[in-house]
Amino acid sequence: MSILFKLFQRVRRFILSRGYTCDNCRAEVFEYPKIRLCTKCERKLDYNNRFTCPKCGRKTVASGVCLNCKTKTPAFFAGVSPFVYHGATAAFINRMKNGNRRLCAYFGECMADECLSRFPNLKAEKLMLVYTPLTKKKRRSRGYNQAEELAYSIAERMQSHGVFVELVNDVLQKRKDVSLQKRLGYIQRFENVQGNFHVHKRAVCRDKIIVLIDDIMTTGATGHECARLLMGAGAKEVYFLTAASLQEIKNQDL
Ligand SMILES: [Zn+2]
Ligand SMILES: [Zn+2]
Repeated sequence: MSILFKLFQRVRRFILSRGYTCDNCRAEVFEYPKIRLCTKCERKLDYNNRFTCPKCGRKTVASGVCLNCKTKTPAFFAGVSPFVYHGATAAFINRMKNGNRRLCAYFGECMADECLSRFPNLKAEKLMLVYTPLTKKKRRSRGYNQAEELAYSIAERMQSHGVFVELVNDVLQKRKDVSLQKRLGYIQRFENVQGNFHVHKRAVCRDKIIVLIDDIMTTGATGHECARLLMGAGAKEVYFLTAASLQEIKNQDL
């Protein structure tokens, strides 16, 4: 078991290692230190660096708490995402989910940096990283869980900044997939995810500052539900860290 695990870690390290090509378009890059994306690809990304909601971290039209959070206050303490889920950025994230596993390294590094720059107090804490799970069926068909891959990249990056982080696998489990989420109203989506997840490793959560990792935050229902369960298992605080988040909803979308 442990030999297999070590071997798997080496394979992962190899997959996520930097090459001399762009992780997205495969164009050659000759910069030192090695970079993950070429400038052309990096310029396409939509950085979440203007107004952001102080609670969930999504892009807002003006300063202050967003309409999403006013409608339903999320159970996580705060959300952070370095990018806005939109246009070319959404295409990047979808590629990361559907085959381009290497992109997890780039996004993970951006997520770690963004999280520590928004919450510098976390540098002095002992953090536990938990990722949102896929159902066993989905994990098998996709071959990897992008949130788990992001978590590995985030752990390495945070460690390189001298932060104490421990990544614990399979803290959460997902029971079933909800496929009809898009047809539901905003509040209904929060109700719809209830019962889909459960805390598999309760004891490790007690008194921990948890950074919960996922690829995208759309409504925030998954983050809310997982954070609620982790808090229920005794966590001290839960931060929800995603690669990208959807912009604040408009009033008529509620
Ligand atoms: Zn490129
Ligand atoms: Zn918000």
